[in-house]
Amino acid sequence: TLSNLRLRSSLTDLAIRDSLTGLYNRRYMEESLERELERAHRQGHEVAVVMLDVDHFKVLNDTYGHEAGDVMLRRIADQMKHFRHGSDVVCRYGGEEFVLILPGIAQKVLEQRLEALRSDIEHMQVNFEGRILPVTTVSMGVVRYPLDSDNPEELIGLADAAMYRAKQNGRNRIEWAGIAASIK
Ligand code: GH3
Ligand code: MG
Ligand code: MG
Repeated sequence: TLSNLRLRSSLTDLAIRDSLTGLYNRRYMEESLERELERAHRQGHEVAVVMLDVDHFKVLNDTYGHEAGDVMLRRIADQMKHFRHGSDVVCRYGGEEFVLILPGIAQKVLEQRLEALRSDIEHMQVNFEGRILPVTTVSMGVVRYPLDSDNPEELIGLADAAMYRAKQNGRNRIEWAGIAASIK
């Protein structure tokens, strides 16, 4: 019946969605990554994987409280939903970390889109209980299949390492892993 179908689809949603942001969860990300890499291999296109981490998020939580942090996470997630198109997969990877799987995008377009996302997040105005929260930024690490690796775990590790470099180089910026870094 219809209500059974609705129940089943909302249970499926619970299993693959993160409840705070409505984005896909880590498990779904891992499945999607394997699926997208296989598809890219068959069809001969590339896939970019982005690790995105909120900058100094602990300070925001400590200063304004966990609820304010949650509001900020939701707003950042909304920017990523707005960013998403085509067969992009946007996931909450963990606490304040997100993974974007972006199949078949040319390097130049990828750079422009990620830079726009970085800038849009930096320019959000986020209100919480009558106050405007401080400007909050994100750091990103980007890796490309098959240029940098063809292994999903290694791709995530390389994206994470590039993201960490973005932190070391001042945050609110995008760093590229391996071969893609030298193409730039
Ligand atoms: P960095 O710029 O180096 O990433 O610094 P950071 O403060 O963002 O990094 P750190 O990993 O020290 O802090 C992450 C914080 O994210 C700590 C944790 O309390 C917070 N956090 C994780 N998940 C949630 C959540 O669901 N809601 C809220 N409000 N905070 C969260
Ligand atoms: Mg983190
Ligand atoms: Mg952080």
